[in-house]
Amino acid sequence: MGNYSTAYASALLPEPDLTVSQWADEHRILDQASSSEAGRWRTSRTPYLREIMDSLSASDPTDVVVFQKGAQIGASEAGINFVLYAISHAPAPMLYVLPTVDSAKRVSKQRLAPAIDAVPLVREKVATPRARDSGNTLFQKDYAGGTLILTGSNSAVGLRSMPARYLFLDEVDAFPSDLDGEGSPIQLAIRRTATYKRNRKIFMVSTPTVKGLSTVEDYFEQSDQRRYFVPCPDCCDMQIIEWKRIIWTDDDPNTAKLHCESCGIEIEEKHKTNMLNKGEWRATAVGRYRGYHLSSLYSPAGWYGWSDAAEDFLAARKSGQEQMKTFVNTVLGETYEEAGEQIDPLGLIMRREEYPNDLEFEVKTVAVDVQKDRLELELVGWGKDEESWALDYVILAGDTTQPDVWKDLSDYLTETKPDGCALDAGYNTQLVYDFVSKRRFCWAVKGQAGSGIPLIQDRIKRLQRLRKRKQQTVTPEPLGVDQGKAIIMSRLQLTEVGAGYCHFPIEVEFDEEYFAQLTAEKLVTRYQRGRPRQEWVQTRPRNEAIDIRVYGLACRRLIGTREPEPEPEKTPTPKRVNKSFGGSAWL
Ligand SMILES: [Zn+2]
Repeated sequence: MGNYSTAYASALLPEPDLTVSQWADEHRILDQASSSEAGRWRTSRTPYLREIMDSLSASDPTDVVVFQKGAQIGASEAGINFVLYAISHAPAPMLYVLPTVDSAKRVSKQRLAPAIDAVPLVREKVATPRARDSGNTLFQKDYAGGTLILTGSNSAVGLRSMPARYLFLDEVDAFPSDLDGEGSPIQLAIRRTATYKRNRKIFMVSTPTVKGLSTVEDYFEQSDQRRYFVPCPDCCDMQIIEWKRIIWTDDDPNTAKLHCESCGIEIEEKHKTNMLNKGEWRATAVGRYRGYHLSSLYSPAGWYGWSDAAEDFLAARKSGQEQMKTFVNTVLGETYEEAGEQIDPLGLIMRREEYPNDLEFEVKTVAVDVQKDRLELELVGWGKDEESWALDYVILAGDTTQPDVWKDLSDYLTETKPDGCALDAGYNTQLVYDFVSKRRFCWAVKGQAGSGIPLIQDRIKRLQRLRKRKQQTVTPEPLGVDQGKAIIMSRLQLTEVGAGYCHFPIEVEFDEEYFAQLTAEKLVTRYQRGRPRQEWVQTRPRNEAIDIRVYGLACRRLIGTREPEPEPEKTPTPKRVNKSFGGSAWL
């Protein structure tokens, strides 16, 4: 084939098939307004971004790419590269979702528009702004072969706008978990890609937030969990840059170095550029998605150093939990486990005590959790102001659809003579009702999640409910279990014996497993429609002990409803009348 025909053929061919990083190296210009390093984009500056970007290339079969990251590593620019590549090189409809419509507007104006403008190839493809009906607005960019829609995760309308082959979900940890009752905005957005299932690209990026609530971590954990391994300059052993191996001396962040996990040498930061260049992503798990994790400790020379990280850490340690959370999220790219809200079970084991022989209680309660193959129960003695003494914790094994285990429970109650017994009616409900209906001192209870629901119903509501029921039928007592857990968790943290204090005996039943279960829930903040709300989450699979303790406290208060009204004081102070059996005044 002669020269002429080759030239002719190439003029008709589309651009050669480039990956995102090749495209960016060839075409991307970083504009002065939004980039600290204006000029040509060089993937070699942030070599770890190469594979991430290339997995978003049209020629790569990967469909979902999750990126959990710290700040200052160039992730936003990688995202912009993806957008520009999609417009210019492999055009198709694209949906770009940011946490809010406002943030979408801001990103469009301050980052995307200048980026489009700086790259002639892209600028030519996007319709001219300001022309009438131009198809180039803050929320919409038209180009040959597609449209880019920018929207907020708080806009159901935006998320339903159109089918998309490319989906860019940016800062997903700031997305609401539920959008106006329609479910997760991420799921709504992903549904838009259904028609492109065979060649779609979903790019999900975020700095993580709170442990247990982080969307990006949730997806990363379901991914193949790639981490960037770099060689030690001395022994060449490949390793990840971990915070626990960043060391410094005399509280001087400027001495920060990386401790090689293999040869133990202290690696100075000046080696980082070389290490990053020789680095490679390695999957550390088998998963459904392709996932990348990168902390700011990988930030290239001149951006954010190990000494900066050490300095920020020292400052955060002085300033408290909120700053430490910011450090862990934005520098380490890790979720933050909120301290203090989950109680250390070891501390509770340590304060178990020998009870004196002459303990006396106002009342004793038995609380029962009903499972398929067993009844679990706790006997608690209660003193003034709900100071409590755990007395016994028993597991009665047996099929709870059969009478034997219920006979065992009956025997136990006969033997221990509690003043009240609360049984969870959430499982084998009818059997629980049958048991309760024959024993006046027993209540069937049923937990209700949700903040603002009192542990037991107030007197008036309770009486209304009891009046309404048909004769001889059992209705379960509704329990506000969230309030119950909050009360118990705060009481477990009391260190002074007295009102509310929880005593535990030195007995084999009160072992590590018991305390692990008792502290198995913690209060976390979840966001609903962008608003934070607190919710209890289970931190381990079994948590019977805390549930049973909640039933026990409810039972103590239900016994209170049977007690005669206390005599009014000489100067009536109505608020205090109910204190002995309801209030949590000293919480
Ligand atoms: Zn080494």
